[in-house]
Amino acid sequence: MESIKRLIRDIPDFPKPGIIFKDITPILGDPAAMARITGAFEKEFDAAKPTRIVGIESRGFIFGALLAQQLNLPFTPVRKPGKLPYDKISVSYTLEYGEGTLEMHSDGVGRDDRVLVIDDLLATGGTAAAACELVAKVGAQVSGIGFVIELGFLEGRKRLEGHNIVSLVSF
Ligand code: AMP
Repeated sequence: MESIKRLIRDIPDFPKPGIIFKDITPILGDPAAMARITGAFEKEFDAAKPTRIVGIESRGFIFGALLAQQLNLPFTPVRKPGKLPYDKISVSYTLEYGEGTLEMHSDGVGRDDRVLVIDDLLATGGTAAAACELVAKVGAQVSGIGFVIELGFLEGRKRLEGHNIVSLVSF
């Protein structure tokens, strides 16, 4: 995964001072890298036997939808508030500063589903934990959580304890 790491660009002070933003757009511009990422998730989560992929807005849509296509599984988006048009459920969670909310269509996941939650990056883990909570709300099981990038120093794994977590590149 060193070749993937080289395609991740550090943008200092974006979107606000003090944050080093991990820009994955060079990965999106490299079809072979996208295939390697999808293949790695496929292999890592083979034993998890997922029945559905949940992708977190917005970069989780890209990697999640690609994986869903590869595995021939349905894809469900988890979105920021006010974006989904149909009947929905929501979960609020604490961010570093303030509060965030995520939403999912109430029929987005079935209670018998084994769900793989996919996002581009694990930082504090609050976003992924909220997505898992949405899945749990409908009575389904989270069979794994996959990230392209993990910022290990933020210890997001602690917030997701008990889950089968895979990250492909760590900083
Ligand atoms: P967290 O809830 O703290 O784990 O934050 C994860 C979410 O915020 C993911 O959806 C990421 O896309 C985004 N994110 C957080 N920190 C960064 C960063 N340094 N670079 C890029 N995206 C980030």
